[in-house]
Amino acid sequence: MSSQAEHPALMIPGPIEFDDAVLQSMGHFSQSHVGPPFCNTFGEALTMFRKLLQTTDPASQPFIVSGSGTLGWDFVAANLVEPGDHVLVLHTGYFADSFADCFETYGVKVTQLKAPIGDRPQLPEVEKALKENKYKIITVTHVDTSTGVLSEVQKLSELVHRVSPETLIVDDAVCAVGSEEICFDDWGLDVVLTASQKGIGCPPGLCLLMCSGRAMESFKNRKTPPSSYFASMKNWLPIMQNYEAKKPSYFATPPTQLINALHTTLTQILSRPLSERFAAHREASQRAKQAVASMGLKQLAEKPENQANGMTAIYLPNDLKAPEVLPNILKRGVIFAGGLHREIAPKYIRLGHMGVSVTDPKRRDVDKAIEALREGLGEVGYKIP
Ligand SMILES: *Cc1c(COP(=O)(O)O)cnc(C)c1O
Repeated sequence: MSSQAEHPALMIPGPIEFDDAVLQSMGHFSQSHVGPPFCNTFGEALTMFRKLLQTTDPASQPFIVSGSGTLGWDFVAANLVEPGDHVLVLHTGYFADSFADCFETYGVKVTQLKAPIGDRPQLPEVEKALKENKYKIITVTHVDTSTGVLSEVQKLSELVHRVSPETLIVDDAVCAVGSEEICFDDWGLDVVLTASQKGIGCPPGLCLLMCSGRAMESFKNRKTPPSSYFASMKNWLPIMQNYEAKKPSYFATPPTQLINALHTTLTQILSRPLSERFAAHREASQRAKQAVASMGLKQLAEKPENQANGMTAIYLPNDLKAPEVLPNILKRGVIFAGGLHREIAPKYIRLGHMGVSVTDPKRRDVDKAIEALREGLGEVGYKIP
């Protein structure tokens, strides 16, 4: 039996459903943020984050800071580029526009490479763009939460290392860490940024970044100081290094309860081989996607190789709009998300299948979501072909 109050299953692409033990960690008694017990917890959480991203390179540097995934963009824009630098943003939907906006806020010049909705920029186009101009950074959205499109991050990274080896590779993996495999060292990534409330399965409130040795070198070689105070790596680097060495340190108070919850979820995730976790996400995703197809529905991401494993974005049939369908699904105890891509938002809905909803065999969240979708569409007169 779950210790949580009865509630509809939250099957959106973050925040996701949380495990009981993770939620209970939020009720931890108050601890000093510089006392030995908390330093130990924070230090272990930083080390476990390395393991989740499969990095053993001692030069890799994790940051875990109060905030949400969005703060990760500020960290990149304020520390790894300087005003006037050029960045290339690969666009698969909503989040690339926002990341581009963030760079522009810091005086950085952005070129976006756009793909049609449901697709991703192709490698030859990226190669051409990299050869035409010199970019300090290329960004990719690992899973575009607005479209359910999965990027080919490993191949992209190989390409960048081959044709533009000085360009740093920044992976917006807010909706990918925990549900998609990421091999930080082997793939040669420079920044992976994420948030606590998606595949990691911890309540919202934490921004997590992993930076490569190369990214940290680039930071140290800046000519101008970081262009943010709170999101300054200069301010946070010694704090993270001290915590990981289990030593007290202070720049701004960390959210101690959230760090306890993060420690609990990372401990759970790492108690089993990561390969099993990713296989469970692939399996649940296939089940959801096959059910969607069997209902005669189309996904935004049509090509199987473009489809994320932690979520599914589904076009509504018969010109139905999301507000006509979502309440029917809710009546059946499941919450789906509406559309987010600016051009087509009312025409589709999104189902998240990440974390305990797919890894805890006691939960039936994914099956319940599929049934709720089928019945919810039936209620507005949709006949399954
Ligand atoms: C959710 C999300 C963000 C923003 O994260 P917040 O925690 O909402 O600030 C950024 N990028 C992607 C790909 C996301 O899915």
